Amino acid sequence: MQEFEGKRALVTGAAGGIGRAIVAALQARGAKVAGADLAESAGDVSLCGDLTEAAFCDGLPEQAAQALGGLDIVVNNAGIITRGKITEATDEEYARTMAINVEAPFRLCRATIPIMERAGGGAIVNVASCWGVHPGPNHPLYVMSKSAVASLTQCLGMDHAHQGIRVNAVCPNEVNTPMLRTGFAARGFDPDKAVEALDASVPLGRIAEPEDIADVVVFLASDQARYLCGALIEANGGKAVQ
Ligand code: NAD
Repeated sequence: MQEFEGKRALVTGAAGGIGRAIVAALQARGAKVAGADLAESAGDVSLCGDLTEAAFCDGLPEQAAQALGGLDIVVNNAGIITRGKITEATDEEYARTMAINVEAPFRLCRATIPIMERAGGGAIVNVASCWGVHPGPNHPLYVMSKSAVASLTQCLGMDHAHQGIRVNAVCPNEVNTPMLRTGFAARGFDPDKAVEALDASVPLGRIAEPEDIADVVVFLASDQARYLCGALIEANGGKAVQ
């Protein structure tokens, strides 16, 4: 019997670098997965929609539960990175960063908890960032949004443990995904060379691949993590935030 046999999971940002790897890792262990993203995504079921739309977020856990026959695991993975100092930030960037990185997980957790409570429990895993735990330079909007996700995780971890609902987060440092690579390309760097340079800055010798993060998500969603509630697990290859 596989570890997640009979389990039903919703993963947001399922068309992205880390999201795809999370979907594959859950499926490989026997889970049925609904992937949510702006367009068609990985998963047994693909639920398309925009997480900045309140009604889509509010209804997504129920939509996933209906499509899969229940909901045991929710992974709030979708996110955007907004770069630049606060003096360069526009109102639109502020609103969009908060809508996708903070308001969507808030709405999704709020809608998920009653479903999981009725079923006797479940696991929510948020994808925050090491920058949600230790602030990094020149990304104040992103950093404050991820610190809100970290804080939300700690609060819900406390508030819903008595219902058998565990809420935890993985906090990655740099991961080799489109988010990172398109950022380099947009700033005029060759993404391969930039990733190579970053690899050299990590004590373990390389930045994370999406699968490294997916394995932590799988752990947090699994019974192996049965006593973890509100934990923020940093996955950084030994590299501290500078
Ligand atoms: P990615 O850009 O490859 O994937 C993000 C996905 O989220 C995309 O498929 C995108 O379409 C989806 N998404 C964005 N806005 C959406 C919206 N409004 N509605 C629905 N879907 C939307 O990025 P990734 O690197 O895989 O990032 C996944 C998560 O990991 C994010 O929360 C990110 O902040 C976090 N993270 C990434 C890194 C990194 O270095 N890549 C480091 C730390 C944390």
